[in-house]
Amino acid sequence: MNVLVINCGSSSLKFQLINSDSEQALAKGLCERIGIDGCLTYQPAGGEKEKTEKAMPTHTEAIQYVIDALTDPETGVVKSLDEIGAVGHRVVHGGEKFASSVVITDEVIKAIEECNDLAPLHNPANLIGIEACRILMPDTPMVGVFDTAFHQTMPEKAYMYGLPYEYYDKYKVRRYGFHGTSHSFVSKRAAELVGKPYDQVKTIVCHLGNGASICAVKNGKSVDTSMGLTPLEGLVMGTRSGDIDPAILEFIAKKEDLDISGLMNMLNKKSGVFGLSDYLSSDFRDLTSAASEGNAPARIALEVFSYRVAKYVGSYAAAMNGVDVIAFTAGIGENVSAVRADVVNHLTYLGIELDEAANEKRGEEITISTPDSKVTVMVIPTNEELAIARETVALI
Ligand code: ADP
Repeated sequence: MNVLVINCGSSSLKFQLINSDSEQALAKGLCERIGIDGCLTYQPAGGEKEKTEKAMPTHTEAIQYVIDALTDPETGVVKSLDEIGAVGHRVVHGGEKFASSVVITDEVIKAIEECNDLAPLHNPANLIGIEACRILMPDTPMVGVFDTAFHQTMPEKAYMYGLPYEYYDKYKVRRYGFHGTSHSFVSKRAAELVGKPYDQVKTIVCHLGNGASICAVKNGKSVDTSMGLTPLEGLVMGTRSGDIDPAILEFIAKKEDLDISGLMNMLNKKSGVFGLSDYLSSDFRDLTSAASEGNAPARIALEVFSYRVAKYVGSYAAAMNGVDVIAFTAGIGENVSAVRADVVNHLTYLGIELDEAANEKRGEEITISTPDSKVTVMVIPTNEELAIARETVALI
C-alpha cells in the first residue's frame, strides 16, 4: 500500500509518499509560504528536484498541488488517487488523551482540538492539514501519529513537576515529552541490531537535531524524557535554552524590560548554542569551524551542549538502574562525531569504550563502541516518516 505522510505546519507542509511493502519513499517534497504566496518542491525517488511557485492561499490548495504532482503523467509516481491507500498525519500534542496512534474520526478531531492549548503553534496547524486532506480525499482512511504518545508510559514520578498539584488537576500541567515517533523507531531498531527482544533491553536514545531530546526506554517503554510540557525543557538546543533556573526569568525581565512574550521569544529563539555562541550560529558546522579557529563562545557552546547530553545520559542510566544501548540520531547525532566522542568520554565510568575509527564514519547504522565495551553505543539514522507510515498501515 502507498501511504501519504503529512507533516503540516502553519505555513508549510512536508510530505512523503511511502510504499509500505518496500518501505521506500516514492516521492517527497515540501509546500512553503502557504497563506503568503506559495512554493512547491517535489522530488520523485531517483529523479530531479523541481521547485515551482504556486498560489497557495490555504492548505487545501497546497494539498491539491501535492496530489497533482504525485499523479502527474510525466513526473508523478502513481496514476490516480486510488493508488494512495491511506494518509498518516504527524500531530504534535496528544496530551493525556492519546497513548498511541489513532484512526482519525470526528471524535478524534475534537479530542485533538482539546489539546490545542498545550501546543498552540502546532496542533491547530496539524488540524488544518487533516481537514484539507479530508476535503480532497474523503474516502481515504487517515491516521494521527502523536509526538507525545510514546511517552504516555512515563510513571508519575517522571512526569510530575514540583509544582502545586492543583495545576495538574486543573490544567494538566505535567511533562509530556516529544520526538516520540523517533525515540520509538530508533529504540526498536537498536534492539534489533543488538539482537535482543525489545522488551528486555534498556536503551537511551539521544535525538540531537535542531530540537533535541533524550529518552530512557526500558523494556520497550519510555520511562523518562528530557522535554516537558513543551519542547523547551531539557537539553541545550539549536536556539532553545533547555533547563534553566526559573528565577532567571524575573531577573532578566527586570534588567531588559521584557514581558512574558519577550522572555519566551528569548528562550525559544535566541538561546541554546545560538545564544551561547554570541549569536554566531545554531548550526554545528559553523560552530565547529569557528571553534577550531579559536572562537571562544563557539567552543563554549559546543562544550555546554555535549556536557548537558552526558549529564542526561547519566541520569537516565540511574533512572533505569543500568543501560545496555546508547543510540545517537538526528542531524547532530548522525553527523557530528566530535559531539558523540565528547559525550561518550564523559561516560567511561559506565564501562563504555569508544571505537574512534568507527565513530568517524557517517550516514549509516553503525556501532561506535568496541566489542569489549559494557554498553553498546550506536548511530542509528531516524526516519520519522517511515515510522508514521508503519503506524498508519498497522491501524487500517
Ligand atoms: P530538526 O529536524 O530539529 O530541524 P535536524 O535533525 O535536521 O533538525 O538537525 C539539524 C542540525 O543538525 C543542524 O542545525 C546542524 O547543526 C546539524 N547537522 C546536520 N547535518 C550536519 C553535518 N553534515 N555536519 C554537522 N552538523 C550537521
